[in-house]
Amino acid sequence: MQASSRMLPLVKWLRPREAAMARLLGQFVRAESPSFDKAAVDRFGRIVEAEWRRRGARVTLVRQRERGDHVRAEWNPQGNRARGQILVLGHLDTVYGLGTLARMPFRVSRGRAHGPGAFDMKGGLVIALFAVDTLTATGRLPQKRIVFLWTSDEEIGSGTSRAVIEREARRSDAVLVLEPAAGLDGRVKTGRKGVGEIEIVAKGRAAHAGLNPEDGINAIEEIALQVARISRWNQPSRGITVNAGLVEGGTRTNVIPEKARVLVDMRAVRASDMRALDRKFRALRPILRGAKLQIHGGFNRPPMERKASGALYAKARALAKEMGVSLGEAYVGGGSDGNFTAALGVPTLDGLGAIGEGAHSPNENIVMRALPERAALVASLLASI
Ligand SMILES: [Zn+2]
Repeated sequence: MQASSRMLPLVKWLRPREAAMARLLGQFVRAESPSFDKAAVDRFGRIVEAEWRRRGARVTLVRQRERGDHVRAEWNPQGNRARGQILVLGHLDTVYGLGTLARMPFRVSRGRAHGPGAFDMKGGLVIALFAVDTLTATGRLPQKRIVFLWTSDEEIGSGTSRAVIEREARRSDAVLVLEPAAGLDGRVKTGRKGVGEIEIVAKGRAAHAGLNPEDGINAIEEIALQVARISRWNQPSRGITVNAGLVEGGTRTNVIPEKARVLVDMRAVRASDMRALDRKFRALRPILRGAKLQIHGGFNRPPMERKASGALYAKARALAKEMGVSLGEAYVGGGSDGNFTAALGVPTLDGLGAIGEGAHSPNENIVMRALPERAALVASLLASI
């Protein structure tokens, strides 16, 4: 079969390198990189930079003052003859604070590699490096320029990286996101909800709860009424969720509270629902006479709609099949940087990273045996898009 001849050499070269992949993963996981610690993220970024330089990539650092520097590695075996660009996205940062490694050391046991960030998403960074290795070793050089962008603040909303990601995405023909796969069967992510956060601040009027309660306007009561109102906007069957996740207000029991606030997480499957929800929040008016409302925030990540992923997914599924792997797809509620690129209309396939479980938990781990296959899949996408 002619098709098998494309995929098999890649995976054949990778399978005996599982131990080498584990060693590199260990080195990456031991370099802790919590989003809020610039020095730590930069230390890890320099390790990643060195790996890419060793492979002949042109590496530039997108320097940041407060957050870690983003690492951009350009691998362009065709030079001036390159026909277009593919963007490969991932992040250097993890949700684990410095010192987590002491309780959660890197270890490989029973075929799983454990450690902070192993799954989300240092396994993905290892996959990218070995994808390039297998393409080089087998002489399957991509026709396009490949830009690997490893950002430093994905876990905290991508504040400093969003513009960089969007700039690269606009000049790319496709975006591959090496975030963790869904489920132990390794499904890729072809849709993600849009995600936003709204703060509602209520201002009332303080008064003594016993002496002159009639002069007071209870801001907590106003917030409670608003929470009851917005909770009715939930439409799970349509993929719309609204969750009041944090409330604050008041000073003491005998004071009618002057101020209260609520933070709300909102998600939607469709961009049109996202905009409608945003408008509804902005149109909120006080319920209690004399109370005032302020609305802050909005959607941070637009939805990743399946139309941006469908064709790439079909291609990935066909390639996986050549290895005897059946590649499924998943729709997930969590956002990633793939949301930004898909919203620009650039074909985006997410969840191409490691297979594992327990992201953001003490049990975070990846399935080692699947790493060579994932690297082969990414490699063959790079060579055939
Ligand atoms: Zn991630």
